[in-house]
Amino acid sequence: MEIRSNLGSKILERLQEWEDKERQLPGFIQFYRELLKMQSEVECRATVRKPSLAPGVVRERLSEGVPLLSFEDFQPDWQDVQKIFEQIALWLVKDSGGPPDEAVALTNISRNPYQLKAILGDWYRGHSVADIPGVDGIEPELLTFVVATALKPFLFAYSRHLLPEVDQELWCRTYCPVCGGKPDFSYLDKERGARWLLCSRCDAEWLFLRLACPCCGTQNQDALSYFTDEEDSSMYRLYVCEQCRTYIKTIDLRRAESAVLLPLERLMTLDMDRKAQDKGYKPGWSNPAVPVRVT
Ligand SMILES: [Zn+2]
Ligand SMILES: [Zn+2]
Repeated sequence: MEIRSNLGSKILERLQEWEDKERQLPGFIQFYRELLKMQSEVECRATVRKPSLAPGVVRERLSEGVPLLSFEDFQPDWQDVQKIFEQIALWLVKDSGGPPDEAVALTNISRNPYQLKAILGDWYRGHSVADIPGVDGIEPELLTFVVATALKPFLFAYSRHLLPEVDQELWCRTYCPVCGGKPDFSYLDKERGARWLLCSRCDAEWLFLRLACPCCGTQNQDALSYFTDEEDSSMYRLYVCEQCRTYIKTIDLRRAESAVLLPLERLMTLDMDRKAQDKGYKPGWSNPAVPVRVT
């Protein structure tokens, strides 16, 4: 947790420096900062117990493509989960102009531990929240966002525990070895330019093939390419796949001059998302998790 607290506070410090310099941060960065503050408060007190997986089980799961953290092993302090869920939900609907019933429906979910757990479990297993019973009156995109944001600090805590168990050479799949989430960012490492993916749900990083699509997995080189931004000395790359028409943003750390905070890079590159979507590509993580067999 300490690592995360450091990362969270480093990001907040970086944003503060930016604000001091520019006087005012762009609206979406202010929005992100408020969320990050809420998440950081939870992270400071969130402790999760590392699931006890025998080395043989870890190896077997990784070889079979089963992520290490099943929802049955996900056992945070549920009261904390409930609190942050409600806090984020109410903060989001406060100025959204959405129907007042939406706030009531979200509050009802957060105060019903069974329903909340069922929704989180379905989302975790890769189902669309729109298909979950009892969520009428809530915009599915809003609910997905609240769920993902509320669970992030806890999933991150698990990923810090479990990631060291992952034999990176053994995994190399299109979804996260810890939670099964899809990647939403990637980087080429400083040492040898190897490509790593970043999980959209728990921030775990895993090694992936440089010449394959992180969404559909194709290695057909005719379908894969990338764009660079000339003005940025090619530090950023936008990888696209013609087979599944998705994209992923990538930063080349060999060209980065100062320390890079990956979660912040996601935000600082929103222009690339716009460009990619203008070209007709969609984000590869729109389905946030791959439904997996639970052992
Ligand atoms: Zn993950
Ligand atoms: Zn693809």
